[in-house]
Amino acid sequence: MIRLAAGLLALGFGSAVPAAMPAATALRPTACPPIEGLAEATCAESAAGYRDGWFRITAQPPAGVEQVRIRASRFQSASVTFRFADGVAVQRAASAGAFGNHCPEGGTIAFDVADRTAALTSIGIEVERLAWDRLLKVAVVGQPDPRAAAASLLIIGAALGLLALSTLGNLLVGFASRQSAPIWNAAWAACVLGWGLLWTQVALFAAPGLAGPVAARLGTGCATGAIACAGGFFLASAGGSVRPRVRLGLAAIAAAVAVIGLATAATPDRWLPHLAGVLNGTILVSAAALIAASVLGWWHGNRQARGFLLSFLVPMAAVLWSTFADRGISRGDTGGLYMVLGACALQTLWLTISGAYHLWTVRVERDAARAAESRIAKIAETDPLTGLLNRRGFVERAEALLAGGAPVTLILLDLDHFKQVNDSFGHDAGDRVLQAAAAALTWVPDAESMGRLGGEEFGLLAAGLTPEAAIQVANDARRAISAEEVLTERGYIAVTASAGISCVPPGTDFDTLYKAADRALYVAKEGGRDRTELATTLVRVV
Ligand code: GH3
Ligand code: MG
Ligand code: MG
Repeated sequence: MIRLAAGLLALGFGSAVPAAMPAATALRPTACPPIEGLAEATCAESAAGYRDGWFRITAQPPAGVEQVRIRASRFQSASVTFRFADGVAVQRAASAGAFGNHCPEGGTIAFDVADRTAALTSIGIEVERLAWDRLLKVAVVGQPDPRAAAASLLIIGAALGLLALSTLGNLLVGFASRQSAPIWNAAWAACVLGWGLLWTQVALFAAPGLAGPVAARLGTGCATGAIACAGGFFLASAGGSVRPRVRLGLAAIAAAVAVIGLATAATPDRWLPHLAGVLNGTILVSAAALIAASVLGWWHGNRQARGFLLSFLVPMAAVLWSTFADRGISRGDTGGLYMVLGACALQTLWLTISGAYHLWTVRVERDAARAAESRIAKIAETDPLTGLLNRRGFVERAEALLAGGAPVTLILLDLDHFKQVNDSFGHDAGDRVLQAAAAALTWVPDAESMGRLGGEEFGLLAAGLTPEAAIQVANDARRAISAEEVLTERGYIAVTASAGISCVPPGTDFDTLYKAADRALYVAKEGGRDRTELATTLVRVV
């Protein structure tokens, strides 16, 4: 557990030595001596006093040493003294807030061996106000491999770029869709991005003053923030189908990771070992709880839980593996951290793409629902027999017209003696007559809307007509109806229609408009049918 805690705290996840380092030899100053890797290395003072003073290591270098690397962590300054066979000593130093050119990518501070012909006889390493001896990792390395350095730069650039894009993309998607899952996804990506910028020391280009304990503390905050945000993302995406008690538990664990993480990032050095143990225990509990909840969710058919497990399993495994594998300085440990960065970047990209796909399917479903809704609305206002508006649709159109600025004309048309058609030719023939009449009406000019108001009664609506023009329209309609002939087994059917017209000023209610036309229609029927009557003046037009 102590090893785990030390790894997490150095700059967040795991150890921090770049893959570019070939054939590293590890120095692991714990209780001093012994120190791993170099039998000749010795510590100048006991570990007890190092927090307020210096942690000193003296080592006999193996042949071919080109560089000494110290993992960037919670200490104030580090200096390396190279002593040569001719008695010359060259000292190089880097202090918090100004690592200068001592910070290559990948969380280490590098000190080049002075280029001298005399043999290197000893290396003295001094680290000032180290927060915890477990955090100190030192390596002596040979000639760096430029291809490996280029590869690590490529991974760093690509991963940080992807994380930045994902942060932005998910934020936009989250705000546009008003959903919290993309926001948690953005927060997760931002935390991993922050950790990546600090661990790789890319952040020091923009803010060199962060170098040292500040960057290490921020790194711890970002790493634990990322783990807490993963919990938030699970709850936002798959939490709906989780039992309230379990949801509360998961939220409490995520909050605990965030709070203890922040406390660990901010704590004075002497409490660090205790808090680190608590933090790592909480992180393990969090990872276990999230994995258990998503496996159970998947088991019960929750697609979001499955998506969470598939997308977070690799980054979580990478984080845990690199943290547990923090046993010294070796290529494998560093590879683990690049793996964490790469896995997180690819995962957040995957989440972004699947989130966008999810939104797209939601949009397709919404469009289909809207189309279905408008189909249903059309059905609700259509007469199935004739295809004209039914009474409800017709009244709606009339009211819209009455709310306008022009006078409105309603022409009611009722087929004459239609009952006899049914009686003589059958109901089916009657239906066909109704269809023929409706078809005839659709050719009438000037009619804004037409509908079947019930039985064999039809209505035409027009706006801005003079009474004379309205009479003209009504007569055209009647003529069109009587021109229709329906062929049956027992011969042709032709019907006439009577019309009642009412013209009202804008603002009149539909009831008034209708009653006036209905009265006129009654007069037309009473007057012998096959004629038109105008409501206001009751002009009789044959
Ligand atoms: P009037 O000239 O006074 O209007 O006489 P009418 O026979 O046309 O009027 P009445 O109200 O006496 O009869 C209307 C008939 O219309 C009665 C009903 O069976 C028929 N009818 C109503 N709806 C339909 C329908 O959807 N299909 C058919 N085939 N007949 C219908
Ligand atoms: Mg009738
Ligand atoms: Mg009738």
